[in-house]
Amino acid sequence: MTEITILSGKGGTGKTSITVALASLVQNTVFSDCDVEAADMFLIFEPEINEEFTFESGAKAIIDQDKCNRCGKCYDVCRFDAIFYKEDGGLEINPLHCEGCRLCERICPVSAITMLHPENNKWFITESRFGPLIFARMGPGEENSGKLVTTIRKKAKEIAEASGADFIINDGPPGIGCPVISSLTGVDKVLLVIEPTKPGLHDILRLIELIDKFKMSAFAIINKYDINKTICIEVERKLKELNIPLIGKIPFDKMFTEAMVNRKSVVEYAPDSVASKIIHEVWDKLKQ
Ligand code: SF4
Ligand code: SF4
Repeated sequence: MTEITILSGKGGTGKTSITVALASLVQNTVFSDCDVEAADMFLIFEPEINEEFTFESGAKAIIDQDKCNRCGKCYDVCRFDAIFYKEDGGLEINPLHCEGCRLCERICPVSAITMLHPENNKWFITESRFGPLIFARMGPGEENSGKLVTTIRKKAKEIAEASGADFIINDGPPGIGCPVISSLTGVDKVLLVIEPTKPGLHDILRLIELIDKFKMSAFAIINKYDINKTICIEVERKLKELNIPLIGKIPFDKMFTEAMVNRKSVVEYAPDSVASKIIHEVWDKLKQ
């Protein structure tokens, strides 16, 4: 079984369109949408939800103002400066600073502090016309997206192993932060989708630096290569220098947008388009 993560360093490169296009070609594959903060593969996959789970991110302390006697003990023990005095002399907890260590809860003499376990994060096991898809939905402002990525990848792997799948394809998150690292750990190959713009080049170089630490096989495609031919040449030169095989150059093709609007992949919607033909070639090279 081969596990592949598709990354782009930034949003708006057409990465998900390409992942979905690949999905309509590959056989016997399990998919996971690791972009847990803005999952959108399900919009095209239109899957049936088989199971739904809650992912508990970090607990947050809250003070019951009716019970609190304002002794200040919690303020003294919080190492994360999450507890502050309000103008009226009462105490409050800043949820953005609270690390959920529970020290204040334990020390409070009148049990005025309890821990709140947010249940805004859900993840789903689904079945679609392309195969199983595991994806998540994070509530706004929730943390631990890296852990959520790890959770859904673990489930994708379990399903792939149980069903004897040949591939796992992960649609990765943007950036170079914790969720990206979680989407890369232990995969066999990474496919980079690059847009030839100045920010696109900058972000992909940062991502390549990160990937380099993981010592895995990296491949690249340039999407909308004809929107800036000068930067495209620069990207190609960089890839050559870094020894990353360029396995496809896709021109700007409005069929991608039309296909999305119709909730299809470009391979389904316009099988004879230039983009579809290149996606076929990309997969032939990537699956080897
Ligand atoms: S330790 Fe408890 S009683 Fe004392 S200030 Fe904090 S919440 Fe209020
Ligand atoms: S749980 Fe820990 S971090 Fe959060 S307010 Fe209490 S002492 Fe501070």
